[in-house]
Amino acid sequence: MGIEEVTKTARTRLCIESGERSWLKDARYIARDIANDTLRLKQQGYNKTEIQREVDREDFLRNNKCAVVGKALQAWDSYKELLNWWYNQDDTNVGKPSPPATDKKGAYPLVMAHTEGYRLTYNDETHRVQFRVSPKPYKKVKGHLRGRSEDLNLIESALVEDEWSLGQAELLSRKSKIFDESSKCRGTSRYRDGVYYLHVTVKTKIQVPEPEDADTLVGVDINERNIALTALTRETVETLGTLVLDYGSVKAERQRYHTITKRCQEHGQHSIHHQLGEKEERYTEWILHRLSRVVVEFAQQFSNPVIVFEDLSGIRDAIKYGTYMNRRLHKLPFHKFEKQVRYKATWNQIPCETVESPYNSKSCSCCGHRGYRQGRRFRCTNDSCAVQQDHADRNASVNVAWRAWAKHAGVDVELVNYRTHKTQPQVRLVRLSGSGRSVNRPSSSREIASRGVLSA
Ligand SMILES: [Zn+2]
Repeated sequence: MGIEEVTKTARTRLCIESGERSWLKDARYIARDIANDTLRLKQQGYNKTEIQREVDREDFLRNNKCAVVGKALQAWDSYKELLNWWYNQDDTNVGKPSPPATDKKGAYPLVMAHTEGYRLTYNDETHRVQFRVSPKPYKKVKGHLRGRSEDLNLIESALVEDEWSLGQAELLSRKSKIFDESSKCRGTSRYRDGVYYLHVTVKTKIQVPEPEDADTLVGVDINERNIALTALTRETVETLGTLVLDYGSVKAERQRYHTITKRCQEHGQHSIHHQLGEKEERYTEWILHRLSRVVVEFAQQFSNPVIVFEDLSGIRDAIKYGTYMNRRLHKLPFHKFEKQVRYKATWNQIPCETVESPYNSKSCSCCGHRGYRQGRRFRCTNDSCAVQQDHADRNASVNVAWRAWAKHAGVDVELVNYRTHKTQPQVRLVRLSGSGRSVNRPSSSREIASRGVLSA
């Protein structure tokens, strides 16, 4: 058993009972100054410690300042990651990413550590979660939290159970749409800038079995059209089921956004361009969430599973040498996908592992010989191999699962000429509809996942 720390975010709303709302607002604007200064100094080459010293302010809690600097530096790190990706790819049509802006206006999330910047307690009499937020030195805002029961339950667990704890929280707000004219005259609502939200990070430790103890190996093969999953039993290396998730329509949808975005750019409509970029981003997030859920649901149907990924560096190369159109449009972030699957798997106590699998899509899953791809089919070039052809993506996912088997069985992969069974069960292909605008309502992840399991 391995112990993994996982986090969830509980989204709640503040019901303020004492203290000034204006303190919260001020703190969020000071947080913006600090974030801008952090990014400016980072660009000038300052390190974290130097930045912490430079951006110190008397009207802001020192502990909150450290947390805000941390959040701003995260934005810097993502920019650096994006920049690295940009340098490594040879498509000149993609614009060079620009560093995060240092002159943004408006409020910034006030990030706080538990017991320092904010504190939550459970009141046994009112059955409410009470909060204390310290936006400024010696200034406290108090009240209780409201929200959906699942979010509040998460916080309650963190407060009462030993294996749960509270991490950082972010104070956000939404501007109030209704403006009260009478209170404006009295001057009382000048700072009433709407509802305040507290997003609380809840941490827990989850026991996850070791990958080598798993009974079922679920191989994942990812390419630009689909995700193929195959479950093998460790004992007999027999296939228990295959699911191929086709997300071709997703690509079409992305292409649509891409085209519109391009057109807007040509006409100089930057705001629309920005909105569409965000829409495309959210759309991708939704797809990643959906795909990763199906993967975990698929694995959950088998006894004691492990989810096996192919080493991503190989996949990156395969895409790098893909066709021009693929390079241009294919932006489904595999790395992010894997991260999401791992996160969801851990919550469900399913281990994950990564295997090196050179020539993964070009190797025959039965005899190990090099073959070639013809459309959706994989063709084996070994005359004495019982498998003449197979579904190319299933073949690849069997290879990934088999590599994990071989790794723990201590088998020399070069010497094995018989891998899995020659007759593979039928492939279940499921098309993941992108937009949900189709007449048929999109199926649930569990329903999709169950289609890949063979009926006994
Ligand atoms: Zn073969």
